[in-house]
Amino acid sequence: MVNSYYYNGNQYIPRDSNNSYKGYILASLASGAILSAMPTFSKPFSKQLVKEHNQNHLYKDAFENSIKTSGLAEKGVSIVPAQYLGGMSDEVCGLNAYYQPSTKKIVINTDKISIAGFHEAGHAMNDITGKLGKFLSKLRWPGRYAAGLLGTIALFSTPKPEEAPRNGLDIIRDNAGKLAFACMLPTVFEEGMASYKGIKLAKASGLTKPLINNMKKLYAKALLTYIGHASLTGLAVGAAGMIMEKFTRPKKVETDDIFLFG
Ligand SMILES: [Zn+2]
Repeated sequence: MVNSYYYNGNQYIPRDSNNSYKGYILASLASGAILSAMPTFSKPFSKQLVKEHNQNHLYKDAFENSIKTSGLAEKGVSIVPAQYLGGMSDEVCGLNAYYQPSTKKIVINTDKISIAGFHEAGHAMNDITGKLGKFLSKLRWPGRYAAGLLGTIALFSTPKPEEAPRNGLDIIRDNAGKLAFACMLPTVFEEGMASYKGIKLAKASGLTKPLINNMKKLYAKALLTYIGHASLTGLAVGAAGMIMEKFTRPKKVETDDIFLFG
């Protein structure tokens, strides 16, 4: 057995760069396949949001008024019609709404998806009045970058034998999937909080119960998108780590093998 070595009384065979290469390809393919399931989680949301165009008038006034009555307008929050922003197609405008903390603007096409506005107002509340919400929203982008970085770390080779002591990077590598999922959680929670506050706002605006219930359905689907995103990210990173480990961790030679081949 060429190149094998002993660690803690066990015999190991190191892996070569060919193994790393194969592992890398497989790990990338597996991650890609897992991440390609993302639209499955966002489809129910976007489907309903398109349907909402037809009954937008039922939500529009209530949403616009609620920005004033909730005190958000007083705190500088304003609604910017997305259709007047350059470079956005009509289709995108119809489906996208967001809150911009730096300008306190809710960018939304109120002629199509006012129903989503309450959720964006919820983001504004998180940002302006809520301590926890603000904290969570500040973690949004760092969390995403960290999850991406963990995806890269998961693709590192594992040249140490299974029994070798683990350093900080090893521990991060070993748990990259779980950590990537955890990095996405602040966003999931902040989204949930924004919806919760948005529904409260909608109730206070005097919307009827069927309209509120319809809104709850849409917001649940929105949250499903984020939960799906977080879960798939964790799974993709975890799978990449597991595959890389399989291909690059030194192979322990079992005593039976030594008996047979030694
Ligand atoms: Zn949101």
